[in-house]
Amino acid sequence: MSIPKRVAVIGAGSMGSQAMWRLAAHGAEVVGYDRYAPGHDRGAAGGESRIFRAAHLGEPGYIPLLRLADELWGQLEAETGRSLRRHGGSLVMGEADSPAMRLLLSTSAAHGLDHEVLDRDALARRYPQHLLPDGHTAVLDRLGAVIRPEASVQAAATRAEQLGAQLRRYTPVREVVPAAGGGVQIVTDHGTDHVDAAVVTVGPWVNTLLPDLPRTVDVRRVVCSWHLPTRHDWFAGGAPSFVRSTPHDCFGIPSPDGISVKLGLSFARHLPVPEPERLDRTVRPDELGTFHELIRELMPDLNPDPIRMSAYMEGYTNSGNPLVGHLPGEDDIIVMTGFSGSGFKLSPAMGEIAADLALDGHTDHPVDFLAPAGTGAA
Ligand SMILES: Cc1cc2nc3c(=O)[nH]c(=O)nc-3n(C[C@H](O)[C@H](O)[C@H](O)COP(=O)(O)OP(=O)(O)OC[C@H]3O[C@@H](n4cnc5c(N)ncnc54)[C@H](O)[C@@H]3O)c2cc1C
Repeated sequence: MSIPKRVAVIGAGSMGSQAMWRLAAHGAEVVGYDRYAPGHDRGAAGGESRIFRAAHLGEPGYIPLLRLADELWGQLEAETGRSLRRHGGSLVMGEADSPAMRLLLSTSAAHGLDHEVLDRDALARRYPQHLLPDGHTAVLDRLGAVIRPEASVQAAATRAEQLGAQLRRYTPVREVVPAAGGGVQIVTDHGTDHVDAAVVTVGPWVNTLLPDLPRTVDVRRVVCSWHLPTRHDWFAGGAPSFVRSTPHDCFGIPSPDGISVKLGLSFARHLPVPEPERLDRTVRPDELGTFHELIRELMPDLNPDPIRMSAYMEGYTNSGNPLVGHLPGEDDIIVMTGFSGSGFKLSPAMGEIAADLALDGHTDHPVDFLAPAGTGAA
């Protein structure tokens, strides 16, 4: 019988918890480390909801990865008995003639994604919560769902532990160093562990742990704002999550408790985070301005006074594509970071790919366009 590979997963957040699950499921001896504990809200995974959508604006290369993620989300729910996604579709709205909307439509058609185009009148009848400006269109992605991020991270980490993984909570890793005779040294305040391979999934902390990444990961503070509807029937007839590109680049998700709607803005509105451990989690009243504008212009049946505002953080790359693969020149160190505001839906697929890369050295899943040493462009 062959000896199982010992693999460290550094950062048991969105990607790391799934990597631990998939590695343990493939028979690895897994040691996970997190500076906090699974399900915390100090990084990229907080805020109670995430959008899953198959119709991805901009990059058809994600479609096979989204299909893999879809399958594995179902498997994680089945193995844990937890309900992690609420199905109900997802809307994408934008200018009908924009290159992004055209690409979304052609990709959805080419890949046979279950979707429906809604013009302004059809949207007003079906989803009167939203106003659509002249010349804009909506696409309903029927595979769309809302994911519960904290529950998902905890479910994946717990499942990994049931399968034999160890998790060192409240244990920040200080250094990841290639070992002289092969393998990797993991340095914490409690000592140094030796493993065969390491998967680094520290999200917005990546520049602290790996300051020499081949591509820049720009860490930004992302503010979300929760609003109550002013009409009792706002949720009647279904209220899918949504993404809008113009005139306000934003996203929204009816909250899982069914009483409010969470809104968030796009990259251009996010402030830089120079030091992740000192993320400013206090949201000032003047940060509400853009939320007020978009409510007034696009969703006037939401109360502009929020019932909650919270700040999170995320790493962004220039291309918007994450870095996924071996660190250049390092056969035993795999990095997954820079998910640029849209990685959560992919996280189980990233876990499976991490397991392939750590255990076999390669993956058959199509992630070459995300290679850390590449340009990050498709
Ligand atoms: C507000 C917001 C809304 C979003 N909405 C969506 C959406 O609707 N749909 C979607 O698909 N994506 C969305 N995203 C993006 C998605 O949530 C992120 O891409 C994803 O969570 C990134 O996961 P990660 O594993 O890289 O980081 P994290 O989930 O932050 O995990 C990093 C982990 O590493 C740990 N860690 C850090 N440093 C160390 C260390 N030195 N040693 C040990 N542990 C360490 C941290 O404690 C943390 O647990 C959103 C992001 C934000 C911020």
